[in-house]
Amino acid sequence: MTTSGRASVHVKAPGKINVFLKVGTLDDSGYHDVAIAYQAVSLYEYVRVSDAPDFSIEVTGSVELSRVPLDGSNIAIKAARLLAARTGFGGGARIEIEKHVPVTGGMGGGSADAAATLLACDTLWGTELPRDELLELARKLGADVPFALTGGTAIGTGRGDELSPALAQGTFHWVLALADFGLSTPAVYRELDEHRTRHAQDIYPADPRPTVETNVLQALRAGDPHMLADAMHNDLQAPALHLEPSLADVLELGEQNGALAGIVSGSGPTVAFLTADVDSALELQVALSAARLTVVRATGPVHGARVITD
Ligand code: ATP
Repeated sequence: MTTSGRASVHVKAPGKINVFLKVGTLDDSGYHDVAIAYQAVSLYEYVRVSDAPDFSIEVTGSVELSRVPLDGSNIAIKAARLLAARTGFGGGARIEIEKHVPVTGGMGGGSADAAATLLACDTLWGTELPRDELLELARKLGADVPFALTGGTAIGTGRGDELSPALAQGTFHWVLALADFGLSTPAVYRELDEHRTRHAQDIYPADPRPTVETNVLQALRAGDPHMLADAMHNDLQAPALHLEPSLADVLELGEQNGALAGIVSGSGPTVAFLTADVDSALELQVALSAARLTVVRATGPVHGARVITD
């Protein structure tokens, strides 16, 4: 059925940290415009796609997997079906995902799976869509999916899916505190909207068309973790802390143990700590592990979804 002549294709795609996230006012369609500075980090999802008559999925990995759906609602199956419909491919795909990005952790793990599946199927099936068409399909699957394809450092506006690359140099060292619970992205946005309604807009004004502040762009361009630590911001952090007050203790613990700054990643509950260098990251990892937190280290920026040979 496939024209690539391969039995399977293996792709890896990164999770992400939003080093800056501003949320605009709620629009009439019930969405918010956002301004995001994305950084892809070295926590990867691995997706292998093999030729098969039907669509099926299997999920393994190092993170808690109980919240990952194993039916047609899995975003990886949606991605494969969308590409098949777009290209007229008549077969199916067996999709094997090895997950290392925390599920419902605010790090775009599902989006990475979708991006990896699009690229893997496109390669396996020999459909080889032009890059901009693949990005268009990615956008239909979710606002964070295009960034998982492109990776690196990028600014996302609109729903977060209108991407422009950002200049960046150097490597940033992160320590990530993973929670043993998830936070639903829609619930965190709802909490933000309710907060903004409760507290008058004149006290907490939201910009309908938010932009990424220039000090963030300067810090990324300089590759300077101290500058970035001062510039990081996330409008979803306060509502995430309101829903899960225990995250405030995690943030404080990290900052007491050498982090330059901590930030809730996206809608949380993962907390990302920026450190000055690899040694500080190692020390912080030890301190947080001693406090019985589940911690991983990651660096960024890294590349987006790529075919790997094995
Ligand atoms: P984001 O930061 O993009 O909002 P997230 O990292 O918080 O997302 P994900 O783990 O990407 O969260 O996905 C969250 C939801 O998507 C869960 O409710 C889960 O049931 C559903 N889901 C569908 N497909 C997947 C997948 N392949 N991996 C993980 N979750 C998936």
